[in-house]
Amino acid sequence: MIEKFRIRTTERVELIDITSEVEDAVARAKVEEGIASVFTRHTTTAVFINEAESGLLRDYLALLERLVPPRAGYEHDRIDSNAHAHLRSMLLGSSVSIPIANSRLALGTWQRVLFAELDGPRERSFFVSVVRA
Ligand code: ZN
Repeated sequence: MIEKFRIRTTERVELIDITSEVEDAVARAKVEEGIASVFTRHTTTAVFINEAESGLLRDYLALLERLVPPRAGYEHDRIDSNAHAHLRSMLLGSSVSIPIANSRLALGTWQRVLFAELDGPRERSFFVSVVRA
């Protein structure tokens, strides 16, 4: 089963916890054991798993700012000035796979699924594919 979720981001760079949407998709799929894949089709967004503590959410963004600052002489900026957003997306990745056990996401206690807007605000979407094992 594949579900598409729409998301309207409100900031230029922003992290959104989408764990409950993924859990809902798993519940609707009625899969006891399997894999949930979360995928973003955009080249300036990302999906990753980590803790969603508020200080840490700011730390992730501060790290991206340090590692990949905007307008640092990137070739792609001659086209649309958002090379830093593409490069940050490449570092974080565009999908995650999560095991499903007992009809629930088998995430660790502090793990959350985070959607990263890296060149917003925009209308975005992501897919959740639930596969029976
Ligand atoms: Zn671009």
